[in-house]
Amino acid sequence: MNNSGIIGHKDILARLYEAVKNRHVASALLFSGPDGIGKKRVAWHLAQALNCRQFSEQGPCQLCASCRKIAAQNHPEVKIFTKEEKAKNLKIEQIFQLRADIALRPVEALKKVYIIDDAHLLTKDAANGLLKTLEEPPLNTLIILITANPSALLLTIRSRCQKIEFKPLPAREVIRRLQEKNQLENSQAGFLADFAGGSMGLAQTYLEKGIFEKKSELDDFLQGINKADIADVLTQAKIFGRDKEQAKIWLDLLLYVYAQRLKSLPQGQAKDYQQDEEFINLVLEAKKNMAVNINLQLVLENIFLRIKYA
Ligand SMILES: [Zn+2]
Repeated sequence: MNNSGIIGHKDILARLYEAVKNRHVASALLFSGPDGIGKKRVAWHLAQALNCRQFSEQGPCQLCASCRKIAAQNHPEVKIFTKEEKAKNLKIEQIFQLRADIALRPVEALKKVYIIDDAHLLTKDAANGLLKTLEEPPLNTLIILITANPSALLLTIRSRCQKIEFKPLPAREVIRRLQEKNQLENSQAGFLADFAGGSMGLAQTYLEKGIFEKKSELDDFLQGINKADIADVLTQAKIFGRDKEQAKIWLDLLLYVYAQRLKSLPQGQAKDYQQDEEFINLVLEAKKNMAVNINLQLVLENIFLRIKYA
């Protein structure tokens, strides 16, 4: 299959190929599923399939001018709209641009394709602007909305799109790919695939952020926390809470550690069970509150002190 490095999602590809072959692709699709599992890759691939002059059951040829331009992301009529760097949302101006562009007749594309990444980040105005286009889609165009959070989209938008749900990749697949790309022991790859919840993209990001070092730092810290000096515990909370992005990883690691502990607790240890569950709830609460501006250092201090004196 000429599948441009897509991992898994065989059912979805087969379904899309069939629709391309029968010219039954809807005018708007909604790709949903966790981040980092290849939704965007499939969107670009579908754009190739729709525009390939030699499309076959094997998929787009990857050789024709159209396939190559789309692979290089410089086809003039296949475009992606993403949130601008440092912006929090996809703005109405971007949707104006899309609307102006989509109204033009295709010049070289068989089908013009517009990919909107992280579609849940559309502002309300932008979403309403897009809705108008979805209600009266121009001929020979396809809009693909991509999101990890479909419930955050306007219901009216969702109802205009054909939904395609992407599932996390099987752990063995992620492990295999991780070991192909990186030098990892089985146990390391296993932990990483598990921690990233079947997302190859997320696993790779964690790897780049030094997840193994962080995990062993946390393990050491938790192992010694009962005997540790209170000042050291507070210092650690300060270090872990220094910036939001890092703090999120520490919280996720804490969650992971305690979830593993719960899984491995022998029967009949109700006290430990209750305690670990309480820590998990504390961390979940902290993660939820990260959206509003909480003082991460204080939150971590609280969690660590509860663990210390448990
Ligand atoms: Zn081609």
